[in-house]
Amino acid sequence: MNLILEKQALQDLLQSWRQNYDVYLPQKLERFSHFMPLTETSVLVTDEPHNTRIPPKSLFLPMTEALVKFTRYGGYEDARHEIQPRIVFGIRPCDAQAVQLLDTSFIQDEYTDPLWLERREKTITIGLGCHEPCLNGFCTTVGYGPFNKADLDAILTDMGDVYLVETFSQAGDACFQGLPVAAEETYQEALAVQHSAHDQMPVAFETENLKEKLEQNFKNNYWDEVSQSCLGCGVCTFLCPTCFCFDIVDETQRRERVRNWDSCMFRTYSLEASGHNPRPSRVERTRQRISHKFVYWLDQVNQIGCTGCGRCVRYCPVGLDIRSMLRQAHSLPFEVSHAI
Ligand code: SF4
Ligand code: SF4
Repeated sequence: MNLILEKQALQDLLQSWRQNYDVYLPQKLERFSHFMPLTETSVLVTDEPHNTRIPPKSLFLPMTEALVKFTRYGGYEDARHEIQPRIVFGIRPCDAQAVQLLDTSFIQDEYTDPLWLERREKTITIGLGCHEPCLNGFCTTVGYGPFNKADLDAILTDMGDVYLVETFSQAGDACFQGLPVAAEETYQEALAVQHSAHDQMPVAFETENLKEKLEQNFKNNYWDEVSQSCLGCGVCTFLCPTCFCFDIVDETQRRERVRNWDSCMFRTYSLEASGHNPRPSRVERTRQRISHKFVYWLDQVNQIGCTGCGRCVRYCPVGLDIRSMLRQAHSLPFEVSHAI
């Protein structure tokens, strides 16, 4: 359904959702916006040109979470909290797409993460399309876009005093029940906004044959060059909406088994008990980060594992820019492989 929502009615609508749901939406905390629970005094951030600093993957895979609590005499009990039905409002299309990409790892026929699944099943996602290009973003280059609708129950298009609301599911319909239906003319205007936003996105690098070039140049000096100034801080992976590595540790003082975010950019991530490390330096670790997104994810699910959100560009402390790394990859030699 295509509906019209007056901007001045948004706060009341959001507050009304709190009767039945935990509502999360971007709010300012110091200089950055973050997804935080809606309270009576929350100030919604809709005019921020960037997406939140910490991606909304944290709502499905928290940075740290207790899985098991140990009790006396060798016993244990479930430490997980009950998850209430939730609405995530204002998620940007690149981040919603990232959650869908993460489903391919966390929800599988043989292995499914029950925590991820429960949070996914209990969450309604309402997107806010990007009518202006964000700084550093390159969603269209990797095949997605500022009004990408994957994994959304509804999406809003900013049209000045009003939003056009497009709903894609019963849950989306229910959230916006009672709003007036948009006239065909208004819908066409919204489509024009969406197309213009798409056309404004820059082409950040060439993706044709990129996978083959990276794959066939596994041992090229290219990796030394592009990783030279990397500090191994892990920021690019922690803030990436599609990175999902985690570690599970027993916190003996807390008597809990805890799952924490981890990063393939850390030396200890791949350190084996023997002392051997198959990724001994930042060269191999950078190669892993880039190859996972632009080679392995394509092999596994036929999708690029980067949604072009631009966070790794914006927050890398030494200014390492994945876009220029991949522009540089363009000149790598490769041979076309012919399937038999
Ligand atoms: S954010 Fe930059 S410096 Fe830190 S690990 Fe990533 S590429 Fe290296
Ligand atoms: S690799 Fe960088 S641009 Fe791509 S999704 Fe991750 S943080 Fe965003």
